[in-house]
Amino acid sequence: MATTPPPSATTPSPTTPPAPTTPPAPPAPTIEPVTAADLGPSWRPGCPTDPQQLRRVEINYIGFDGQTHRGALIVNEDLADEVIAIFDQLLAMQYPIEKIRTVDNYPNADDELSMEDNNTSAFNCRDIPGTGRWALHAYGRAIDLNPLITPSVARPGAFQPKNAAPYLDRSRTDPGILHAGDPVVRVFTDRGWRWGGYWRTPIDYQHFER
Ligand SMILES: [Zn+2]
Repeated sequence: MATTPPPSATTPSPTTPPAPTTPPAPPAPTIEPVTAADLGPSWRPGCPTDPQQLRRVEINYIGFDGQTHRGALIVNEDLADEVIAIFDQLLAMQYPIEKIRTVDNYPNADDELSMEDNNTSAFNCRDIPGTGRWALHAYGRAIDLNPLITPSVARPGAFQPKNAAPYLDRSRTDPGILHAGDPVVRVFTDRGWRWGGYWRTPIDYQHFER
C-alpha cells in the first residue's frame, strides 16, 4: 500500500540562527616549575634565588592590536598567584601590552635589549645598574611593564632603554603609558606593590616590585 511521506520529510527544517561570534575564552593561566636549563642565560650559579623558588606563569593579555595573546613571566613562587590576579585584572581593563616574553629569549638575557623591544618581563638575575646590589628582578619580585614607552630615568638625559627618548615627554597619553594614580598603577599598588614612578632616582616608570 502506498504511503505518503510525513510532511516533515520534505519540509525544509527551520534555519538555525548563526552562532554568536564571541571568540572562545583564552586558556586559563598556568603556573609551572622551572629548572636552571629553562632559565637559560637569565640565571647562573651564585644568583640569590634558586630555580626551585621560581615559577613560569603563563597569562593572557591584550596586545596593541586589540587581540588577546598569551605571555610568560618568571616570578617568585610566593607571587605567582598574585601575578595571575594582576594580569587578569589588566586584561579585564583592556590595558594594552606589547609583548610578554621571558628574557632568556634575548642574547645573554640582556635587559637593555628586552626593554628596547618594549618587552614586559619579571625575573632576571641582574644587579641594579651602578650599585652592585641585586635588583628585585633577581628574586622574581619585580615586573617591568611596557618598558620602552615607560622608561627608567636616572637624571635628565640619562635614561633606559636608549631608544626611549620619544617617551621622556610625560605629557604623552598614548595607550600603555603610565601616570601617577592611573587605575593600572593602582592594580599593583592596592596589593602592596611599589611603583618606581613614585621614586626620585631613578624615576622608574616601568617598574613594579613587591
Ligand atoms: Zn625593573
